Amino acid sequence: MTDSPAGDLKPSFRSDVTVELVKHSAADSDVLFAARVSTLGEQSLDELKKDPERSKGLINFLMRDRHGSPFEHNSMTFFISAPIFVFREFMRHRVGWSYNEESGRYSELQPVFYVPDESRKLVQEGRPGKYVFVEGTQAQQELVGRVMDDSYVRAYEAYQEMLAAGVAREVARSVLPVGLYSSMYATCNARSLMHFLGLRTQHELAKVPSFPQREIEMVGEKMEAEWAQLMPLTYAAFNTNGRVAP
Ligand SMILES: Cc1cc2nc3c(=O)[nH]c(=O)nc-3n(C[C@H](O)[C@H](O)[C@H](O)COP(=O)(O)OP(=O)(O)OC[C@H]3O[C@@H](n4cnc5c(N)ncnc54)[C@H](O)[C@@H]3O)c2cc1C
Repeated sequence: MTDSPAGDLKPSFRSDVTVELVKHSAADSDVLFAARVSTLGEQSLDELKKDPERSKGLINFLMRDRHGSPFEHNSMTFFISAPIFVFREFMRHRVGWSYNEESGRYSELQPVFYVPDESRKLVQEGRPGKYVFVEGTQAQQELVGRVMDDSYVRAYEAYQEMLAAGVAREVARSVLPVGLYSSMYATCNARSLMHFLGLRTQHELAKVPSFPQREIEMVGEKMEAEWAQLMPLTYAAFNTNGRVAP
């Protein structure tokens, strides 16, 4: 690690991602509330809690038969800090998601960069559509660490040099790599989150397997853990029914 020429901002390296549930209004009773208007009209939330077994059965039925809209009447906002390449994949999820990301035009981007740790499988074997990832050798691990550190430091120095010379942030940022960390708020509902999890996590209960990049899966796993606490019946039904979003 070296000092940057324009200031005392030192690059730092991370292998993890941050996911914090910052705001939510999400409970299994929101699903029941929305579903039962079909047959009962307006009801009180207390009424919904009276028969837990029936509630569990109804949520499972909705999930199994893919009655999706009752799973939309809730909201979860996550603060996420992850490399830009993760955000690029993340923001492909358009439906039922709202995003606000830190600006590289209005603020100076901080020198925090992604370097995979030793648990990250480095080598892809097989052809597109049918491949696996396997461990790298010790030499590959060292190469990745060294080359990433060096090129991140050089890129950040170039960014700082341009800023110091008065070049606008929005122009100077062109040299920064996709391994730079960014941060955003992402707001979703249980239905859009289930669709995301079905595509961006690998799970033994998944009826339709997906092959996400490990780093977006790390974000997905943390979001899933938060959601499972808020909506345990919905979460259980999602798993029981093969992790296919209704
Ligand atoms: C393993 C993996 C590999 C991928 N590889 C690539 C890649 O190489 N290149 C690439 O560009 N992308 C790639 N993607 C991104 C992928 O194509 C989707 O853009 C992304 O997963 C978001 O999924 P979605 O469109 O279903 O989600 P959302 O945008 O949230 O949409 C949810 C659902 O709404 C409906 N919907 C949304 N928009 C429309 C529309 N315009 N018309 C009709 N129905 C709509 C669909 O039913 C859709 O499933 C990859 C994704 C995964 C999981």
